[in-house]
Amino acid sequence: MGFELEDCKLEVIERGFPELKNLEIYIGYKNMPDAYFGYIRKSRKKYIIDVDTSLKRVKRNIFLGGISHEIAHISIEHSMNVFCNFFDNILYNILYKNIKSYETWDERRTDLLVVERGLGQELLEFLKYADKRREEYTTEDGLTVKELEALIKQ
Ligand SMILES: [Zn+2]
Repeated sequence: MGFELEDCKLEVIERGFPELKNLEIYIGYKNMPDAYFGYIRKSRKKYIIDVDTSLKRVKRNIFLGGISHEIAHISIEHSMNVFCNFFDNILYNILYKNIKSYETWDERRTDLLVVERGLGQELLEFLKYADKRREEYTTEDGLTVKELEALIKQ
């Protein structure tokens, strides 16, 4: 089971995020009550992506879309690590945790990066899947299905 996740992660990095090839990114299933995907930063070069166990039998593109979003977060965070110092990173974490609008902005620019890197179609398939099963995504959670469809058509 873990093999397919690993394979999807490698495909996302290869197709859209080659700058992350040298990071250690582990991926595995976990029971997550309120998310399908998530990531944890362990160190400057080490990250863990969690995938909710309810996704074990979904289509490959849904994995690719969800993983792309997490990998895009890691890419943004990693580029900040390279250019900013330790204190900026703390500031980033404080901003993310305490300011709702910053979180919204961060989620939306993360989705935009996925589109820029050529994985928008996969992200769209993931969002459609997620919309059906949980509360609909709004502009506060990232790009919506409608926005993403408009972007991909361009
Ligand atoms: Zn996110």
